[in-house]
Amino acid sequence: MTINYNSVSAVKAFLDKEGLGMRKKFGQNFLVNGDIRLRLVEALEEEGPSSGRREEVWEIGPGLGAMTRLLLDRGFGVRAFEIDPGFVRALKILFRDDKDFTLVEGDVMKTWPSASSASSARAAPLLLGNLPYNIAAALLADLIEKGRFFRRMVLTVQNEVALRAAARPGSSDYSSFSVLCSSVYTVRPLMLIRGACFYPRPKVDSRGLALDLRAGVDANTYPPCFYPLVRGLFSSRRKMIKNNLRSFIAGAGRDAGEVCAELLGASGLKGDERAENLGLDDFLALAKNLENMRILGSFEGS
Ligand code: SAM
Repeated sequence: MTINYNSVSAVKAFLDKEGLGMRKKFGQNFLVNGDIRLRLVEALEEEGPSSGRREEVWEIGPGLGAMTRLLLDRGFGVRAFEIDPGFVRALKILFRDDKDFTLVEGDVMKTWPSASSASSARAAPLLLGNLPYNIAAALLADLIEKGRFFRRMVLTVQNEVALRAAARPGSSDYSSFSVLCSSVYTVRPLMLIRGACFYPRPKVDSRGLALDLRAGVDANTYPPCFYPLVRGLFSSRRKMIKNNLRSFIAGAGRDAGEVCAELLGASGLKGDERAENLGLDDFLALAKNLENMRILGSFEGS
């Protein structure tokens, strides 16, 4: 059984027949443009299938399965994560004959860690998702900070989120989120996707985004304080790093000014810099030196 995913009236008719509706709280906007869906899947497979193996893709938010169908047709195995019980019911009917399709029901923020520990899923090297706007940034942060890396991720996110993910030091979009994404991935913005390509039509434009795992990065590349520290340094964007750093390490049991000066000196940084001008190596030097000072326990994760 299949649906004409490019036809809003066909999608609506299917929803009506199954007694389903679109729910804003789950960020439900279907990508009804077949050309864009194809380009996104092609971006996932750009480098070609690795050694002829059938690769597994984690698909976040399949909806009624428009991208899922395309992935399966192109030989991928799909492990799909869907929260909406109505869509889950529909997916079970639509994909009941597809042996390479697995459905993980519930909130992906809660379900992905156990899906990750299932032996076949552990190796899933690819992720694809037209991400619900309300969890896009949080999901990326969670996967990265918990060390669940993919060889490649191809996503659709709000244009503004894509620009932040890809931003370089010194640009107005550069934020702790940019550092988070670039710490593990090379980020490539793809095509702009106008609101008209979705049903229902969102108020903002979206953009495709490809994230390629950087060579040599693994779960041990960054010390545990790295991401909390980066967030701390961006907490007041216009403040000099010495001030954000002092606030971050306040309560660590040693004089914050002294620790701050020591840390900046060891990292070769000036206190009057701003986080928006620091590169990945600067943040990493600060985190490693902070870790070496062994004062972490009292404030880690602040
Ligand atoms: N993949 C479909 C497409 O491209 O047309 C639908 C994309 S729609 C933007 C987002 C999908 O994510 C919806 O199916 C929604 O129900 C699902 N979703 C929203 N929040 C979720 C969550 N926390 N966990 C799993 N799925 C979620």
